[in-house]
Amino acid sequence: MDELVLAFIAALSIVTGAALLIAVVRGGTLERLREILGAPRGADLEAAARRALDDRETAEWEAGRAAADTTYLLDLVGAGIIRLDPDLRVAAANEAAHVFLDRASGELVGLSAIEALGDHRIESLARRAHEVGWANGEIAGGDGQQTLIVRARRSPIEGLWLVIEDVSELRRLQRIRAEFIDNLSHELRTPLTTVRLLTETLARDLDGSELPPRIRDGIVKIDVETGHLVQMVNELLDLSRIEQGSAPLHLSQVDVGQLVRASVERLALFAERQGVTLRADVEDELPPVRGDEDRLGQLLINLLHNAVKFSDAGGAVTLRARRDDGQIRLSVEDEGIGIPRSDLDRVFERFYKVDKARVGVRGGTGLGLAIVRHIAESHGGRVWVQSEEGRGSTFTVAIPASEV
Ligand code: ADP
Repeated sequence: MDELVLAFIAALSIVTGAALLIAVVRGGTLERLREILGAPRGADLEAAARRALDDRETAEWEAGRAAADTTYLLDLVGAGIIRLDPDLRVAAANEAAHVFLDRASGELVGLSAIEALGDHRIESLARRAHEVGWANGEIAGGDGQQTLIVRARRSPIEGLWLVIEDVSELRRLQRIRAEFIDNLSHELRTPLTTVRLLTETLARDLDGSELPPRIRDGIVKIDVETGHLVQMVNELLDLSRIEQGSAPLHLSQVDVGQLVRASVERLALFAERQGVTLRADVEDELPPVRGDEDRLGQLLINLLHNAVKFSDAGGAVTLRARRDDGQIRLSVEDEGIGIPRSDLDRVFERFYKVDKARVGVRGGTGLGLAIVRHIAESHGGRVWVQSEEGRGSTFTVAIPASEV
């Protein structure tokens, strides 16, 4: 081996790592060197080695630029972003992560998850994501002032990504809104109840009175509209209590069959007036559910009321109760106007009404389904809807059955 070749070997060992040096020293030949450099026979090996070095420098420079660019971008993002290596130490963290975790810039890198995150709940989310691939959680600070949403995902390459969002301001505004609605509904309820009583009495006294038709019509309309107002205020109060958790559930073993039949009975008169047939179909020997009987009754009434309200005369509404894999499924099926596909995800939002013009005729507050969803979720269950416009809708609630 002459000196030039040794120089190449030294240069190349920088480029390709010690493996090459070992290969050549162990009896490698110029042939092997050519092969590694991809240089044809008779080519200038020195030039090929220099090119290899240049290529490596260029690749390193470009990788450095891309990394600097990514770091710059991550620092622009408002959410905290942390990369943990496989042994759960911080490999990288953006500026927002330092702010949320109350650290000086750059201090997080190298710390273990528990040192960096300072909260065992965030750390256990990270560990869970490490084990199962993902984990999400909402973490409220001890003083109740800070609320963080943490999403942890296992990286497809190695380690974990944690994304931390500060939702403290959002949660504070939501609390203020809930309190405002609660206070307002309370204040409205008392005078409204008085107006309601008076208009009801006036409307009753209309029979046989000498009042001109214009005034009679006015009184009937005031009576109907005050009824709507009272209903809206009551539903608002209900929803705000359920949302804030200030109306605790009164739990007992609820006989589902009995609840279904009682709910259908309560709406029988309304269905009859609308010309809608109302049926109950309950599987034999259903197990009970552990729940709040009044709330579950309210859930069924809201669903049945909608089903009848959005049906045309001649339609049928069926309330079914079935056992399904440790759960009780309650479904309310109608043959009414249905819900357009684009609205299906939104009907459970408070105040959401599909096509206000159509609903206007049938009345309603847009709160009934929001209440249904809260009741289902507070019983560890869920609710969903399937519907086709012009053909009807089926709302289904699944609630865990009780082990008795
Ligand atoms: P509302 O008091 O207006 O009935 P809900 O929250 O109970 O309020 O329902 C929200 C909206 O969802 C309704 O305004 C209506 O547009 C739609 N909806 C609910 N149930 C049905 C149903 N069974 N058939 C068709 N549309 C429905």
